[in-house]
Amino acid sequence: MEIHLPTVVATPDHVAALDRLGDEIAELSAHIEAATARLLDLIRDFDARGGWNTGFSCCAAWLAWRVGLDLGAARERVRVARALGTLPLLAQALARGELSYAKVRALTRVATPETEARLLGVGRGGTAAQVERIVRAWRQVDRHAEARETARRHASRALHVRQDEDGMVSLRGRLEPEVGALLIQALAAAREMLYQRARREEGTALADSSAAAPSLAQQQADALALLAETALHQELDPGAPGERYQVVVHVDAPVLADPEQPGQSVLEDGGRVSSETSRRLACDARRVVMQHDEDGRLLEVGARTRTIPPALRRALCHRDRGCRFPGCGSRITQGHHLRHWAQGGPTTLSNLALLCRRHHRAVHEEGYQIERQPDGELQFRRPDGRPVPAVPLAAAVPADPVHALRSRHEVQGLRIHARTARPSWLGERLDVVWAIDVLHPLAAGPRHCPSLERRSPPARPSTAIPVAGPRPVSE
Ligand SMILES: [Zn+2]
Ligand SMILES: [Zn+2]
Repeated sequence: MEIHLPTVVATPDHVAALDRLGDEIAELSAHIEAATARLLDLIRDFDARGGWNTGFSCCAAWLAWRVGLDLGAARERVRVARALGTLPLLAQALARGELSYAKVRALTRVATPETEARLLGVGRGGTAAQVERIVRAWRQVDRHAEARETARRHASRALHVRQDEDGMVSLRGRLEPEVGALLIQALAAAREMLYQRARREEGTALADSSAAAPSLAQQQADALALLAETALHQELDPGAPGERYQVVVHVDAPVLADPEQPGQSVLEDGGRVSSETSRRLACDARRVVMQHDEDGRLLEVGARTRTIPPALRRALCHRDRGCRFPGCGSRITQGHHLRHWAQGGPTTLSNLALLCRRHHRAVHEEGYQIERQPDGELQFRRPDGRPVPAVPLAAAVPADPVHALRSRHEVQGLRIHARTARPSWLGERLDVVWAIDVLHPLAAGPRHCPSLERRSPPARPSTAIPVAGPRPVSE
């Protein structure tokens, strides 16, 4: 294979011109990194203050929509912006144009306020590729430490059930966090159930002055009993998951057609939901029409049908592909009737749009509006009527953005030049194992990280990268 390089005429003038060009590239890059730091500050502030919460599911989704980043890059910006909020040294180095965004992005994956200073040394010393390698090895040590900690916790799980002398049964135990959360949730649900039962019986029970209201501990004990009872009653197998979590809503037909109408909209267990919520649930659901007479007696039960038949749903998914809300595109979707079927809206492609759960709620319950334009495009509007364009207009940019950037940095007192971001690495071989051993607080010995095979340890550092304090002199 032949490689053609441009013919270089190495006159001194030519070399000097190329040097200047290279310097200009380096200087402008450092300016852009400094501006990126400012951008990340703005993103962090916008994120913290919920500025994206105008129909978008998160700050990254808003950023992707408003600025035109792909969603992965937008998520990364938000992650780095948040991380820099607690990492002032890395934030300042980026703001001075000394560290590139690529390096900061890598370092923020592992840096904590405790390790930030050492990692800043890594960033200053190495090239972006070397920083990336060190961060990868660092994460491996972190992951091993985390895995050890998880294994230790898992091994310490226990539940001791013991009968006391008076016949009472004592419990003492330690559960893993997620199992504990499950138990706490189940106890809360059982307490709620017992409370409702007690309320129902309140009217019929005679006032018993000796029975004071049970304490929380007593309620918990009752709740646990109910859990055990229920588990045995269900033979520990509640059936198919679809059935288990099915929510049944009973809605009066006039309520679906017009939320202002009086009528019922209740869950099977008696809880009420708003008429807007029942309209959302009915938008794309299995439905059974039951007819009652005036006294509430059931007259007729229709066949169970899907509001959106499977064939139409396939066509809808093919056309819309994901949630249609600007900037969303989530693939887990529900069919939404632009004009609700209960109001006579047809179940046809032109009256349907896919929305994710978040945006389906936004449209039904939060006042967002969708209209289909004469050209077939969807127009979304905020509750205040302002449109949410699918692609926002680009921000105005000064005629000479480079000049604007330079002068702004000058006003800020930043001194950025062609060598601001130059790594101090002098070309030595990078020994990642050695670097991690020296830098990582948990990597005290080689056995901590079995997958990082330790070769014979170098007699002296073969690289100048892992510098927390003064740099080793490699003479
Ligand atoms: Zn809907
Ligand atoms: Zn969505």
